Amino acid sequence: MKFNIQNTFSEELPSDPIQENYRRQVRNACFSYVKPKKTANPEILHVSEEMRQELGFSKEYVQSKEFLQIMTGNKVIENTMPYAMHYGGHQFGNWAGQLGDGRAINLAEIVHNSKRWAIQLKGAGETPYSRNADGLAVLRSSIREYLCSEAMHHLGVPTTRALSLATTGDKVLRDMLYDGNSAYEKGAIVCRVAPSFIRFGNFEILAAHKDHKNLKLLADYTIKYFFPEIKERGKLSYVALLKEVSKRSLSMVIDWQRVGFVHGVMNTDNMSILGQTIDYGPYGWLEDYNHGWTPNTTDSQFKRYRYGTQPEIVLWNLYQLANALYPLIEEVDPLEKALNDYQETYKKSYANMMITKIGLFSDQENDHLLIQDLEELLQLAETDMTIFFRQLANFKKGKASDWYAIIKDAFYNLNDIENDIKNRWNDWFLKYDARLEKEQIGDTQRKDQMNNINPKYVLRNYMAQLAIDAADEGDYSLIDELYMMLKRPYSEQPEYEKWFVKRPDWARDKAGCSMLSCSS
Ligand code: AMP
Ligand code: MG
Repeated sequence: MKFNIQNTFSEELPSDPIQENYRRQVRNACFSYVKPKKTANPEILHVSEEMRQELGFSKEYVQSKEFLQIMTGNKVIENTMPYAMHYGGHQFGNWAGQLGDGRAINLAEIVHNSKRWAIQLKGAGETPYSRNADGLAVLRSSIREYLCSEAMHHLGVPTTRALSLATTGDKVLRDMLYDGNSAYEKGAIVCRVAPSFIRFGNFEILAAHKDHKNLKLLADYTIKYFFPEIKERGKLSYVALLKEVSKRSLSMVIDWQRVGFVHGVMNTDNMSILGQTIDYGPYGWLEDYNHGWTPNTTDSQFKRYRYGTQPEIVLWNLYQLANALYPLIEEVDPLEKALNDYQETYKKSYANMMITKIGLFSDQENDHLLIQDLEELLQLAETDMTIFFRQLANFKKGKASDWYAIIKDAFYNLNDIENDIKNRWNDWFLKYDARLEKEQIGDTQRKDQMNNINPKYVLRNYMAQLAIDAADEGDYSLIDELYMMLKRPYSEQPEYEKWFVKRPDWARDKAGCSMLSCSS
């Protein structure tokens, strides 16, 4: 097939002059050319229909041998030179130096319907940035990335996308629980797609090397292709860039909070400059509404990246981006101002989002108190976030006494909901009911609006794990079932009602269902 290839990143930015594939510290470059590793016996397990259409690939093409070969490392697209990006990052609060695409290889940029898409294989073999790792990915983490990135897109959360999921036929050694028990797992490759994969860390590494010439080139390139709305020139354009990235990142993280997504590894190398969710590793979905929860075992001690702190971590990461951009601006004040704006707007955006989650669409003075009380109550006893907000839409004005029947399915243990807690819920619903009286809209309309904000179906941790367990046995049907269901997360889908349930008991402490390691 002929693609409309328009490579801008690799043509307009400086490349590493060395083309041999060995680990090294790279200087004065934005990327290194490297070819994907050939795979033994590749098989495509799934193709995203929406992404196929976005890219303008025909149904026949995605079933062709060529598609299989390109998406699994065995063929390079004609007239292209794949490459790995050079970036650094702050990991868990500390500068980690050079990181880079250790196992992601960018194939090309394809333009279709005036949209630019960079295509990248994750798990396609070693690169100059692989450090002491193998450049590969296993099936379990690839299923998780594939399903979740498409699910997030359908939830309306800004995200990188996925085109295909494939097994390689190669075996990959992993110590999944970091307990000294390594085992071979099935190797896999996800083809990821995004307008660009530039991260905060791409700027940070150039700033760290005092490579201001390339830092400027990268910032100008980013503005030209991805922030065309920035009209300022010179220094002001970089301040505008920081403001715009802050705005987009804020909107992304507020969406995470809305749907209960916990990224798990919000290092600055995992922050897209486009404000898209990127790098699905040990992420998880809130089941019981607990602000202190993180799915990542590596973070279990300090819980830096727990659900409740995500918006503040985005701000911390934006400070690192501001530091990286500073040499282009050489003034602290405008950068500080941009970040102060985040600080001020984030509280307001969060409050507004929560208010709409409970079906209040006109702004009233004391709504934040109602939210504050609710968040406290939701954490008194284990309460399922998704089920609670979805069920709340069934509440009817003037029927406060029905509250228990409406939300009881959200409680993990009904014995917890007695006496004091029951009374507090009762009081809250009385206040909620009184507040609803001031809204213009009726029960039906409120329910419709709430159901467009509060998803019914999310990729609960145990669901992904079930798909992984089946896939390990060679049964890939659950991947498709979950993929189909997650296309319409806000719709009632009676055929999938069995997935609208709390996490089953067996999954409470099972690896992959409650906690995940970074091993992938
Ligand atoms: P992460 O925090 O998982 O996004 O990864 C941090 C860094 O480690 C990035 O530079 C990745 O490219 C690199 N990395 C992760 N896994 C591997 C692997 N299996 N082989 C090579 N590099 C890896
Ligand atoms: Mg990463």
